[in-house]
Amino acid sequence: MSDLHRLSIRELSEGLAQAKFSSRELTEHYLKRIAKIDTQVQSYITVTAEQALAQANAADAAIKAGHATTLTGLPIAHKDIFCTQGIKTTAGSKMLDNFISPYDATVVAKGKAAGLVTLGKVNMDEFAMGSTSENPHFGSTKNPWNLEHVPGGSSGGSAAVVAADLAPFATGTDTGGSIRQPASFCGLTGLKPTYGRVSRFGMIAYASSMDQGGPMARSAEDCAYLMNVMAGHDAKDSTSVQKEVDDYVSNLNDTSVKGLRIGIPKQYFNVQGLDADVKARVEESLKKLEEMGATLVEIDLNMTEAYVPTYYLIAPAEASSNLQRFDGVRYGYRCENPVDLMDLYKRSRSEGFGTEVQRRILIGTYALSAGYYDAYYVKAQKVRRLIQQDFLKAFENVDVIAAPSAPTTAYKIGANLSPTEMYLGDIYTLAVNLAGLPAINAPVGFDKNNLPVGLQLIGNYWSESQLLSVVHQYQQATDWHTKRAAIAEENA
Ligand code: GLN
Repeated sequence: MSDLHRLSIRELSEGLAQAKFSSRELTEHYLKRIAKIDTQVQSYITVTAEQALAQANAADAAIKAGHATTLTGLPIAHKDIFCTQGIKTTAGSKMLDNFISPYDATVVAKGKAAGLVTLGKVNMDEFAMGSTSENPHFGSTKNPWNLEHVPGGSSGGSAAVVAADLAPFATGTDTGGSIRQPASFCGLTGLKPTYGRVSRFGMIAYASSMDQGGPMARSAEDCAYLMNVMAGHDAKDSTSVQKEVDDYVSNLNDTSVKGLRIGIPKQYFNVQGLDADVKARVEESLKKLEEMGATLVEIDLNMTEAYVPTYYLIAPAEASSNLQRFDGVRYGYRCENPVDLMDLYKRSRSEGFGTEVQRRILIGTYALSAGYYDAYYVKAQKVRRLIQQDFLKAFENVDVIAAPSAPTTAYKIGANLSPTEMYLGDIYTLAVNLAGLPAINAPVGFDKNNLPVGLQLIGNYWSESQLLSVVHQYQQATDWHTKRAAIAEENA
């Protein structure tokens, strides 16, 4: 069977259950594709072929013995920010180039318990700081739609593997847009859950008050299957919430688009730098939802101008604190021949971290320093609360809020945007993390260069089922999510 990679998660699950193919065959199929096609896409940092085949054999035995779960035997790729026992976890950094975790992240452990087969670990922006997956240590992952463009970031490897059919789905993390923006750039569906829905245990920390893992796949239905595995309370993560988990797959038809009130923030569609094609595709998708029975309601989100400065204070502040542990002493990269302790710290950290990570540590340390703490960090926290209140007020009148996921389509590799230009590209995604809300990206067409455009729907707290359901119905009525990049059509 040469076209196993074209099947949806549901079709793969059914095919395995009906013994149309084995997990071993499916896993070998993906490993073959990776060997052939990933030389061009460069998405995997580590391919775990041997372990994957062993897991596939175990999955086949479980299926035969009748104790398989829905996803037993399905292959997955993990962002290299999730700790995997016995397998290198780099977080995209030279600092952790040789780090082998003694334990699995909860997300990885849950995947194993569900019978998922780990194909490997995929590339990302270093420590999830960035929007392009142009990694200074592991190279640039390519956008499957056009290899001269970035796949987005920081979960760019996760997006690229799915878009090139080098894994049927993948885990990602989103601190300020890192699931939604690469999903948008690569024509995929990606869900950033409510803060606290998915365990952060074993997920290497960037900005802990905003970090959240979530699924990336072709469709809302595919994401729902993975969300069923990822979501849930975890005693090992103190911010994980004790709240019953929905069955996201059974709920896919539960929200009706008919009568759904979609908020359109005035401020969002007048943003400078919003690409005309992106705007047009997003508006067309909203028109489609309107035809399907939704009501579009113009709303105000008055804090829009504060998103970028607020996030780019709080995230670096938390990063500077989280990254202190990489000191060249306990674990991680250590420079050669240090002359004294100061030299050891300094050189280990300047050699082990790339430029962007160092920039954020400097900004964050400055913002947290004694004389500036109130003026920057405390102020940013107050603004953060206002941003959250802005959303809560909006949700009194609407069910979901629509926006582009990004103001542009995928950048060219090496475009070398200045840090501020790069940060402004996150305008539509950051507020969701500052407020802890869930949001989803759905592909809604292409720009003039045939690069994908994404629609973002933001929901109120714990509305993951609703978001997946709305996108699922949109995807029943349209076919953007079924479009494949030319490289995905290549056979191995
Ligand atoms: N691009 C944003 C940043 O650089 C978001 C990254 C993320 O969500 N991990 O911080």
